[in-house]
Amino acid sequence: MAEFDFDLFVIGGGSGGVRAARMAAQRGAKVGMAESGPMGGTCVNVGCIPKKLYSYAAYYHEAFEESRGFGWQLPGAPTLDWETLKANRAKEITRLNGIYEGLMTGAKVLRLQGHGRLADAHTVEVAHADGQTSRHTCRHILIATGGTPYVPEVAGRELAVTSDDMFDLPQFPKRLVVVGGGYIACEMASIFHGLGAEVTLLYRGEEVLRGFDDEVRAFTASEMRKAGVDIRVRSDVARIEANGSARKVHLQDGHVLDADTVLYATGRKPRTDGLGLDALGVRQEKDGTIWVGEHFATSVPGVFALGDVVGRMELTPVALAEAMALVDHLFGPLPGKAARAMDYDLIPTAVFTHPPIGTVGLSEEKAHEKFGAIRVFRSDFKPLKHTLSGSSERTMVKLVVDGASDRVVGLHMVGADAGEIVQGFAVALKCGATKAQFDATIGIHPTSAEEFVTLREIART
Ligand code: FAD
Ligand code: NDP
Repeated sequence: MAEFDFDLFVIGGGSGGVRAARMAAQRGAKVGMAESGPMGGTCVNVGCIPKKLYSYAAYYHEAFEESRGFGWQLPGAPTLDWETLKANRAKEITRLNGIYEGLMTGAKVLRLQGHGRLADAHTVEVAHADGQTSRHTCRHILIATGGTPYVPEVAGRELAVTSDDMFDLPQFPKRLVVVGGGYIACEMASIFHGLGAEVTLLYRGEEVLRGFDDEVRAFTASEMRKAGVDIRVRSDVARIEANGSARKVHLQDGHVLDADTVLYATGRKPRTDGLGLDALGVRQEKDGTIWVGEHFATSVPGVFALGDVVGRMELTPVALAEAMALVDHLFGPLPGKAARAMDYDLIPTAVFTHPPIGTVGLSEEKAHEKFGAIRVFRSDFKPLKHTLSGSSERTMVKLVVDGASDRVVGLHMVGADAGEIVQGFAVALKCGATKAQFDATIGIHPTSAEEFVTLREIART
C-alpha cells in the first residue's frame, strides 16, 4: 500500500497551482488539488484576462474618434452597452474555467472543490461546500493560494470596492475615484476612462508607479492626464461617505469629490486565511507572505509555496515559471531536458495603461546605482498613426546601457503595443545584447519598434 494518498497535493488552482499540478502529473506523480473558487485563480477570473478584455473594449472609444481622420464617418456617437461587455466577458471566463478543469481532469489530477488546510506537514484537510470534510495524506504539499486586495483602514472603507468587483459592477460608474498609484490603479483608471467614465486617480506620493523608471513614470502620467484622467498626487482620502447610492470622498486636504464608485487599488496581501500555518509553524514574513528558501521550501519540511502567496514578483508568468522549477526539483525534468531553476533576472513586464508601458531590466536610477557609468538613449515622438488620427498621444522609447560592457541593461517603452514589442526585446537582453548589436540590427519600417535600433544620440551619461 502506498505510504501517502498523493505524491503532491496543491492548495489553490490559480496560475501557479494549476501549472504545478499538471506538470507533476505529467511526470507520473499522483496529484490532488483543492480550489475553493472557480478554476484559474486571480489571473483568469479577476485579473489579467478580464482586465485585458476591458482594455480592448476601452480602445474602441479612441479608435472610433481617430477613425474620422482616416475618412470614416460614424452615424453618431457610439455608446457602450456595459451589460453586453459584462455578459461576454463572463461567458469567456466560464469557458476558460472549463478549460482549466479539463486540463486537470486530462492530467488525472484529483480536483476537490473546497477550502484546503494543512492538518499536519503531510495531511491536507479539505472543507467541501456541502459541509463535509475529507483528509488526504501527501508526500509534498504545495501552497499556491495567491493574494487578495488590501484596503487600508479608512473611515467608510466598506463603501469602496476593489479590483475583484470592478468587472461586474451592477451600474457603469460615470464618475470613478481610484485610490492608489500602482499597476492596478493606473490600469483601471485608463480602462474605465476609455470606457467612458470620468476618472480621478488619487496617489499619496509624488509620482505614480513607484519602482518603474522615473522618466517612464512621468511620461505615462503626462499621457494619461492628456487623455483625460485626472491624476492627483500627494493626495489621500480622509473618509468616504454614502450619498444615496453615490459616494462623497473627503480628501485630507479638505476637498470633496463626488463619485459613483470608489476603487481602492492599494496593493494586495497574501491569502493565508484558515490554512493552519501558525499551528504547523510555517514561517511568514512581516507582510504575511510565506517565507521560502531554496526550491520554494517553507520552514516546514515537505511543505512548499510559490506565486503571489510568496510575493517575489506578483505576475502570472513568474508563478508559472516557479511552478515548473519546483516540479523539476521534486519529480525531475522531462526526459532529455535539463532541470529548470527560477531566474528572476530580466523579467519583462507591461502595465496596460493607455498608452501602455513595456519594460525589461533596470531603470535609469537603478542602473546608475549598480554600474555607475551608464549611457542613456531616449526618444519621444508622434507615432505615424497619429499624424492623421488627430490624437496628440506620443510614444517614448529608452535604452539604458552599461558604460563599461556596452550591454543594454534596461529597455523601456510607453506607447501602443509596448507589451508586445518589449517581449521580443527581452530575449535580446537575456542574451546579453550590447548597444553595438542593437545598432547593427536593421529596423522594420515604418514601426515604432524600429526606434530601438536607431537611437544614436546619448541623452545622458
Ligand atoms: P492565484 O492566481 O491568485 O490563485 C490562487 C488560488 O488559490 C485562487 O483560485 C484561490 O481561490 C485559491 N485559494 C486560496 N486559498 C485557498 C484555500 N485555502 N483552499 C483552496 N483554494 C484556495 N499578472 C500578469 O502577469 N499580467 C497581468 O496583466 C496581470 N493583471 C492583473 C490584474 C489584476 C486586477 C490583478 C489582481 C492581478 C493581475 N496580475 C497580472 C497578477 C496575477 O493575476 C497573479 O500574479 C497570479 O494570478 C498569481 O498566481 P497564483 O497561482 O500565485 O495565485
Ligand atoms: P502595487 O503594489 O503595484 O501598488 C499599490 C499602490 O497603492 C501603490 O501606489 C501604493 O503607494 C499605494 N498604497 C499602498 N498602501 C496605501 C495606503 N494605505 N494608502 C494609500 N495608498 C496606498 O499593487 P497593486 O494592487 O496595484 O497590484 C498588485 C500586484 O499585482 C502588482 O504589484 C503586480 O505585481 C500585479 N499586477 C500586475 C499587472 C500587470 O502585469 N500588468 C496588473 C495588475 C497587477 P506607494 O507607491 O506610495 O507605496
